[in-house]
Amino acid sequence: MQIAAETVVSFHYTLRDDSGKELESSRGGTPAVYLHGARNIIPGMEAAMTGRVSGDSFSATIMPEDAYGLRDSDRVQRVPIKHLAFNGKLAPGAVVQLSTSEGMRTVTVIKAGRHSADIDTNHPLAGQTLTFDIEILDVRNASAEELAHGHVHGPGGHHH
Ligand code: ZN
Repeated sequence: MQIAAETVVSFHYTLRDDSGKELESSRGGTPAVYLHGARNIIPGMEAAMTGRVSGDSFSATIMPEDAYGLRDSDRVQRVPIKHLAFNGKLAPGAVVQLSTSEGMRTVTVIKAGRHSADIDTNHPLAGQTLTFDIEILDVRNASAEELAHGHVHGPGGHHH
């Protein structure tokens, strides 16, 4: 079955930046799973997936505009350290979670003081051209409940 709106896709991926460095991979772990057509994944990836079938392996190179957006140099701010969730030491370059009124947000530490930190609220992958090596493992129809919720249920998806 082909990947189209209202299908659930399981896949393995390896993500590389434009220098070819591996940033993350699902291989050797749990496959990624998402509901196609529901904006669960970045737009460039969703476009590259459309029409593929189980067993397909391919690479997709995605420009920042279709991935995590361009970097915005204005998105640097100073916040109290108590608003940050992190393990270990807060050091420049650390990727941590910032608690906001809209939930947790992934940010990068620029400078850390005793009580406050300067953080960059751009997504860590903003401004980057990304290449995904993808292997489609399974394509199935979404259930009515998954469509109503806008996400996948069960293994790799939401449990609630
Ligand atoms: Zn749900």
